[in-house]
Amino acid sequence: MKLSKRQESILEIVNNYGPITGERIAEMLSLTRATLRPDLAILTMSGLLDARPRVGYFHSGKSRYRVVAEKLNSVLVDSVKSVPIVVNEKSFVYDAVVTMFIEDVGTLFVVREGGLLEGVLSRKDLLKTTLGSHDIHNLPVKVVMTRMPNVVHTTPEETVWLAAKKIIEHEVDALPVVRKVPLEDGSEGLEVIGRLSKTNITRLFVELGEGY
Ligand code: ADP
Repeated sequence: MKLSKRQESILEIVNNYGPITGERIAEMLSLTRATLRPDLAILTMSGLLDARPRVGYFHSGKSRYRVVAEKLNSVLVDSVKSVPIVVNEKSFVYDAVVTMFIEDVGTLFVVREGGLLEGVLSRKDLLKTTLGSHDIHNLPVKVVMTRMPNVVHTTPEETVWLAAKKIIEHEVDALPVVRKVPLEDGSEGLEVIGRLSKTNITRLFVELGEGY
């Protein structure tokens, strides 16, 4: 977190003399209490300082990185996910290419009846098929997709940080957001309810940087 010179000075004063009142900090910096108000607000909102009535400001005991890490670990996939763009398992590569263009996404999820996850199609999966002499109108997506159980997925309750780690570790662009559903045969299926892509994470990164 980048702090202004004045905010750095306030932190130093609080570290050395806290708990200390706002008036006293203002005096030490030869400023008015009103001038300091926005800085004190930023420092308490960011979690670096704590304040208690009649006690004053004191150091929260958290480092700047700890504050950022706590924030990142508190954001859940549910709050940043997009709608999933899916194709049916019975569709053909041609349909998938058209869907990818129309929907303007880089990753499609392949589902069977009930929206249950069967596989993933990336741009390169589709491009690769155009290198061979395939008839993409008659080539089923099942032949070229990455299939279950090899599809890395996330859930609405998972932290965005953990999901981002999966994206990096598995070198993929997006994860299907799923929820477990019981199937008639007693097993469990994964219903696709969202999409978490590198774009969602970049957007969150930008928002965090703007101080949301
Ligand atoms: P691109 O192929 O455009 O580089 P990706 O890096 O996402 O896009 O995909 C690389 C490979 O990983 C592809 O073969 C794709 O099918 C597969 N893939 C994409 N997303 C996932 C995922 N969530 N889980 C498992 N495999 C995936």
